Amino acid sequence: MTLEIDHLICLRDNFVWLLREPRSGAVAAVDPSEALPVKAKLDQLGWKLTHILNTHHHNDHTGGNLELKKLTGATIVGPKADQERIPGIDVALADNETYKFGEETARVYDIPGHTKGHIAFWFEQAKAVFAGDTLFSLGCGRMFEGTAPMMWASLSKLHRLPGDTRLYCGHEYTQANAKFALTVDPDNAALKKRAAEVDALRAAGKPTLPSTMAVEYATNPFLRAADPGLARQVGLPGADPVAVFAEVRGRKDRF
Ligand code: ZN
Ligand code: FE
Repeated sequence: MTLEIDHLICLRDNFVWLLREPRSGAVAAVDPSEALPVKAKLDQLGWKLTHILNTHHHNDHTGGNLELKKLTGATIVGPKADQERIPGIDVALADNETYKFGEETARVYDIPGHTKGHIAFWFEQAKAVFAGDTLFSLGCGRMFEGTAPMMWASLSKLHRLPGDTRLYCGHEYTQANAKFALTVDPDNAALKKRAAEVDALRAAGKPTLPSTMAVEYATNPFLRAADPGLARQVGLPGADPVAVFAEVRGRKDRF
């Protein structure tokens, strides 16, 4: 493993992921909701913040930016498509650009839909992707600023990542997502197994993340909209994946 990864929970259920690249000592906070709890956790780990990586502009992902920058001098990296809405941004990255984080390299993908400018950071060597509020374990983000075709295109980009990539998301929504997923994909054995696992983790007070992309490919209905079986389950046999995705997203909005 080439990145050390820790986390804290901020606000209600926001994950702030903390990354340390051991050869350089570079330390990043992904989507810091607030400054002081993040700083306290970093102090406890003995990690000195050098970077803030933002997936999108929402306040529960950027609320700590300015104060952390003031406290630590960290460089703030975020989506070019939304740079005017990322507080304190220093480096704005566009689709497919790479960013050197210590000795590691992150590749950025534009994955709009939840917001107009939303990016994922994919660390190929470390086999980790930070997907913000676009892809959750067993779920996906609400489409506040985008359309179903846009969101489906974004999820399809993430669907190209290797199965052994660990998925780090913005929120602990997995248990509620599992309940919904079982309503559209009730016969999926991998989903039933994951749902049971998630219940056990939550009962033990443990996080359900990271997941892996392989698990999500097998279980997440929002990534499975091109699956003929799922199309049949939602009453749209033979339909276009975008239509199936839109139907599943709509059902989740009303769930
Ligand atoms: Zn958000
Ligand atoms: Fe969020």
